[in-house]
Amino acid sequence: MKVGILGGGQLARMIALAGYPLGLEFIVLDPGEDACAGLLCEQLLGAYDDQTLLAELAAKADVVTYEFENVPAEVAAFLSARTAVYPPPQALATAQDRLLEKDFFQQLGIPTPPYADVTSLQQFTGVMAQIGWPAILKTRRMGYDGKGQAVLRTPEDLAPAWQALEGAPAIVEGFVAFKREVSIIAARSVSGEVAFYPLAQNLHNKGILRVSECCHGDALQEQAEGYARRLLEALDYVGVLALELFELDGGLVANEFAPRVHNSGHWTIEGAQTSQFENHLRAILGWPLGDTRPEGFAAMVNFIGNNPKSEDILAMPQTHLHLYHKAGRKGRKVAHATVRTGDKAVYASLISQLADLASRLDDS
Ligand code: AMP
Repeated sequence: MKVGILGGGQLARMIALAGYPLGLEFIVLDPGEDACAGLLCEQLLGAYDDQTLLAELAAKADVVTYEFENVPAEVAAFLSARTAVYPPPQALATAQDRLLEKDFFQQLGIPTPPYADVTSLQQFTGVMAQIGWPAILKTRRMGYDGKGQAVLRTPEDLAPAWQALEGAPAIVEGFVAFKREVSIIAARSVSGEVAFYPLAQNLHNKGILRVSECCHGDALQEQAEGYARRLLEALDYVGVLALELFELDGGLVANEFAPRVHNSGHWTIEGAQTSQFENHLRAILGWPLGDTRPEGFAAMVNFIGNNPKSEDILAMPQTHLHLYHKAGRKGRKVAHATVRTGDKAVYASLISQLADLASRLDDS
């Protein structure tokens, strides 16, 4: 059985690493000469909308999936006409546009921060009266890791933030004073079977995820599962999905969802009975989903900008290193490490050592 993946970065690489023990083969399509999943399997080298390559991908793969949500609708349609493509194109179309995504949350009764569509600078005055200060201006499309965003603290911030958009459609969102950022990773298989991982508590800096920690018996688990379940069912979803949420005084509000495996689920490789990557494969292949229960205390720390020295991490007990085989570059995720242990005190100390090391290497 061969799985095709649009995108050949670290997510595709970790999907392949999870699939080889299950006897699966992989093929990726990526325009990068140095795509890091291309070291593990056949890579079709070229643009994501190259129809010759897409047809080859569809012909060679039994099922196609992807590692990013900005897949053009025409590409998803082209592939769907030739082979099975999961998650469904509607999930892509919704997640790649912040306005459609927020409207969809509202339709499903999933609360969000206040938001509004903005199409001109003149419109802002009325919109800000409704949203309140401070707020965030976000491009509707192609925003990730905090890119395409500007915080609006005073009316003087409006004009420069608007100009920086260079005409890109945008929404403005109330800046919520959250207590925590959490995410829930959920999986739904072709057969409709559903599974949820424990909530992860996430620490971001400058819009980029730094640390994700598995929460045990979180009081908000049930609420998060309820919201994720609504998304899975409304989209007739197949695969792994990540829902990112803010915790406010009254409970959870949704920020965004990713129709794919997610950085806040990397801890599951060693920290759960079955990783998010394996469960994504099980889901899209219609196989039974694996146990999502955690194994001890687990958290993951990202390395951004520069690779750590392997020896520094390998010298740490109960710590697992994942180098993505990517060259260091400002703001680029190049590696992560996961701590998994039954001892809470050891856990706290290892995570703080890792976070220290990562922040010294971080040039974002
Ligand atoms: P996003 O690209 O929308 O996930 O935003 C990146 C990060 O910016 C989030 O993980 C939050 O830390 C922060 N952020 C985004 N939207 C809001 C908001 N409405 N209020 C407060 N912080 C936010």
